Amino acid sequence: MIKFNSSYIAGKEIEYISDTILNGTDYNKKCIDFLSDYNSHIFLVHSCTAALEISALALDISSGDEVIMPSYTYVSTGNAFLLRGAKIIFVDVDQNMNIDLEAVKNAITDKTKAIVPVHYGGISCDMDKLLEIAKNIPIIEDAAQGIYSKYKNRYLGTMGNIGCISLHETKNINSKNGGILLVNDKSLIKKIEKIIEKGTDRIEYLKGNVNKYSWKSIGSSYSMSSLNSAYLYGQLEKSSYIVEERIRIFNKYKEGLNKLIDKNFIEVMNISKCSTHNGHMFFIKLKNEIVRDDLIKFLEKKEIQTATHYEPLHNSKKGKEVGEFVFDDVRTTKDAKRLLRLPLHLNLKDKDIEYIIKRIEEFFHE
Ligand SMILES: *Cc1c(COP(=O)(O)O)cnc(C)c1O
Repeated sequence: MIKFNSSYIAGKEIEYISDTILNGTDYNKKCIDFLSDYNSHIFLVHSCTAALEISALALDISSGDEVIMPSYTYVSTGNAFLLRGAKIIFVDVDQNMNIDLEAVKNAITDKTKAIVPVHYGGISCDMDKLLEIAKNIPIIEDAAQGIYSKYKNRYLGTMGNIGCISLHETKNINSKNGGILLVNDKSLIKKIEKIIEKGTDRIEYLKGNVNKYSWKSIGSSYSMSSLNSAYLYGQLEKSSYIVEERIRIFNKYKEGLNKLIDKNFIEVMNISKCSTHNGHMFFIKLKNEIVRDDLIKFLEKKEIQTATHYEPLHNSKKGKEVGEFVFDDVRTTKDAKRLLRLPLHLNLKDKDIEYIIKRIEEFFHE
């Protein structure tokens, strides 16, 4: 069976975990130093979900506030703001399944307290346009899938007030579970230092600035554990290779499937000149759900595992209760039903990719 996903082991993860246990080496600091070209204030946290929750706390989101996000996203994007009592305003997506900027513009009211773009598959939203639309409304970038992706030479997650990256096992670079919180709005740093440390000034205490720490604000336990940081450092050291390989596989799919794209059997993402992606995902869109589900079964018989993706949040039980989809659902529901993700990981061999492309062609009698 060709697996849809498979976690890549860079090689030194276990060595570094032993090192931190036996010698107390600070891999948290090593990782943050490694990420220095992000030019942002970085916190390593236990998940991207945590990073999103911290963002909502940092912006003092509360009941009566509205937060705009695409309906086509993971539940954590919604939960983070729902936990603070906000009303979730869902909007439509574009061809790349990124938030529709025209819809965002129309959805803004005087209750809007944050806008949360999701860079789907690590392909950037048009951030300059979004920043212009948002004016003074804070932007939290859900760049969960976007590590090392760029928009016009700027890393995803560094353009909004806060950016959130996931290091979950299913993402390009991982710490098994983990997240990177990028604080770009410097006025939020001190506040977030406390939120992350259970609402205390423990970070000031660790720096030697105070001789004991105490409860100062609302907060929780959000930091990444030392074992996860050690694992992460092993991965980060190989990050250039990991991203290059993924882009190579992505391009191989795109070239190989060109004939089917030209003949309109399938559609794929449209990557603008402004966007340098990280090869996180390769999806195709079929004519409709019936064709998609037939293809899934066909490929399964050929020992190829594929995956659909999100149920739009506004169609889910909870989403209906706590959110509202504003304006037309042109793409979200329809495209969620016809989207299919193909295997993309470093344990995939060239002959596997060629085999997958051949079988998809065979499905269309091409
Ligand atoms: C993976 C993902 C998350 C959650 O990340 P965790 O690190 O597992 O908490 C949130 N949003 C999006 C868009 C994701 O893909």
